[in-house]
Amino acid sequence: MTGTLMNLYGPPTGNLVKGSGAYLFDDQGRRYLDFLSGIAVTSLGHDHPVIREAVASQLSRLWHTSNFFTTPASLGAAAKIGEIAPFADARVFFCNSGAEAIEAALKLARRARPDRPKVAVLANSFHGRTLGALSATMQPKKRQPFLPLLTGFVEVPLNDASALRNVVADPEVGTVLFEPILGEAGVFELEDGFAQVLIEAQRDHGTLLIADEIQTGLCRTGDWFASTHYGIVPDAFTLAKALGNGLPIGALVAKAEVASAFEVGDHGSTFGGNPVATAAATAVITFMAESSLAERVRHLSDLALPLLKALPGVTSVDGRGLMLALALGAPVASEVVRQAWAAGLIVNAPTPDRIRLLPPLIITEPELKHGIEILAKVLEGSVQ
Ligand SMILES: *Cc1c(COP(=O)(O)O)cnc(C)c1O
Repeated sequence: MTGTLMNLYGPPTGNLVKGSGAYLFDDQGRRYLDFLSGIAVTSLGHDHPVIREAVASQLSRLWHTSNFFTTPASLGAAAKIGEIAPFADARVFFCNSGAEAIEAALKLARRARPDRPKVAVLANSFHGRTLGALSATMQPKKRQPFLPLLTGFVEVPLNDASALRNVVADPEVGTVLFEPILGEAGVFELEDGFAQVLIEAQRDHGTLLIADEIQTGLCRTGDWFASTHYGIVPDAFTLAKALGNGLPIGALVAKAEVASAFEVGDHGSTFGGNPVATAAATAVITFMAESSLAERVRHLSDLALPLLKALPGVTSVDGRGLMLALALGAPVASEVVRQAWAAGLIVNAPTPDRIRLLPPLIITEPELKHGIEILAKVLEGSVQ
């Protein structure tokens, strides 16, 4: 009998055996500069000594308890998230992935706005692959094979302020779920006028704003959360990717008055709040705060942007902080990814004509410049 992985991700780019800082190593002994961070997950790089130590020390104490109990690890991580949350008095539900955090958010929205069950979502949004999260994901190719999905999601074209104004005026629409910068769609920012309508909906209609900060959150865009760039204080937000620096963890964080709509027994997760994963989360946030990482990300972004804009074939650079995309104006992105890999650089193509850059936030200036030099060679056509 044999076993191997299901074919869901296409042919693998390589087989990786080790990581250190901004570098990954494959089973051939080749080294790659990592401009993907496992899709915005390993923000502190691979094998970060502080995170490794926090996890190792938790591993030698306690692995799992069930949620009939709290642990210092789960309480500590909730308190840490509370310290950085954009509102006072945060309530945290821990789960194990981004999609699960979205599921929890959708259930909380039902409870918090019981008479207004419809949820506005953005065109091309990505919120995860489980059926509920997929119902909120407005990417036709991902949805189509799994129809029918949950009903009650109203699609709003990105940055169409008047469309959004109409949708939030619908008394059945109680919630807007949005990525402050759309990640999987190819890195697209909200425009200020559009964000303003979100803020007005929250103020004038009591619309629940749920920011999906799973990809944007935790310093990636040069602030703890990307909502902040637009002056949005969401009622709730989701986290996952960078929260465990690679250990599986997700979180739904809500204002206390919103979270109180959940009653005991409404939701749960066997592994949610796992001591090892939450110990990692506490270490991640503590390290980010102590090292002023958001500031560092803004500095590195300022350094990278002019270099990226000057790359051959790049028509625009989108995004913020170290969540950036190069628009190539032609469907050559997968070829660029392939050639970059061959030249020792890991990047990703969220769409046929865009390259996404998500380097670790601890990357050094020389490493960042070196990666951009590799990209320059690939885009000049001097790498095959
Ligand atoms: C990655 C991502 C998700 C889904 O997270 P999973 O851990 O893969 O389930 C949801 N929302 C956004 C914005 C994401 O980038």
